[in-house]
Amino acid sequence: MNVAGKTDRLTIVVAAFNEAEALPLLHARLLPVLASMNDVDARILYVDDGSRDATWTTMQRLAANHPRVGLLRLSRNFGKEAALTAGLDLVDEGAAMILDADAQDPPELIPQFVAKWRAGFDNVYGRRSQRAGEGIAKRATASMFYRLIGRLSRTPVPEDTGDFRLLSPRALKALRELRERHRFMKGLFGWVGFNGAEIVYEREARVAGTTKFNFWKLWNLALEGITSFSTAPLRISTYLGLITALIALVYGLYVIVKAWMYGDPVAGWPSMMAVILFLGGVQLIALGMIGEYLGRLYVEAKQRPLYVIADWRPAAGQAYAGSE
Ligand code: UDP
Ligand code: MG
Repeated sequence: MNVAGKTDRLTIVVAAFNEAEALPLLHARLLPVLASMNDVDARILYVDDGSRDATWTTMQRLAANHPRVGLLRLSRNFGKEAALTAGLDLVDEGAAMILDADAQDPPELIPQFVAKWRAGFDNVYGRRSQRAGEGIAKRATASMFYRLIGRLSRTPVPEDTGDFRLLSPRALKALRELRERHRFMKGLFGWVGFNGAEIVYEREARVAGTTKFNFWKLWNLALEGITSFSTAPLRISTYLGLITALIALVYGLYVIVKAWMYGDPVAGWPSMMAVILFLGGVQLIALGMIGEYLGRLYVEAKQRPLYVIADWRPAAGQAYAGSE
């Protein structure tokens, strides 16, 4: 149950890709916070998502003097969602808290998350009140995305929430059941349900390094979110087809009646081209939409694992989840 006792265990899962500079800074801020929560058995699990810089050696150095730090290394860069999944899969006991390696999610707030958990909430998520260091374009597109997915999908995806959150043991267990390859984590957290609580915080600028998400990656993430949690685009293309067919019918009648009443001097090349091009475009869009879903189906059908582990150094007293 999520009612807390003296020995509540909490594992902080941090996915890192090329974060050699940021990790030590995060670590230095994380330790005092964990030490201050003396009624929680807190551990850290760093996941190296196939970094190409010194992230792994940095992690080993950080873990060397701390028995409560576990390390996991994936065989290559699988992406943040897979790295987090790998980390969460290994949390064998207690709650898990997800944190970004760049300290954009302030670790000092962890005790507030724990307090909410102890008050009986299963899914405690951070909601950004401000996005320091993020431009207007990113803010505007982010807000557009949340509005869109809010309309298209029945799965709740709270606005301006990221992966900064605490999951109770039962929420974690439920999340582990979702093994889809295309993982839109925000949606998965929402799908799991249970009672959620939000903690409003100011998202800081990254402490070091640069963002790993460029516009194209974010665009793909948005596509992922929409196609994973809604089939509305397919329905939209159906309606689009219906509407164009209707318009075509009306226009066809008009052409026939016109030819019947006034004869048919050969004309209308421009309008014919316009119609052909328009219909061609509509068909391609609809095909593309079907393709998006078909492609995802194809990836799911292959049933490949979500990630491959290269190295696993558990924190003291930690075992694989389900390997007892
Ligand atoms: N990250 C990861 N694998 C990736 C890309 C990113 O584990 O392929 C991690 C990254 O190290 C960081 C977190 O995901 O801890 C968020 O990335 P970032 O700060 O670049 O994204 P932003 O905060 O700009 O959205
Ligand atoms: Mg960041």
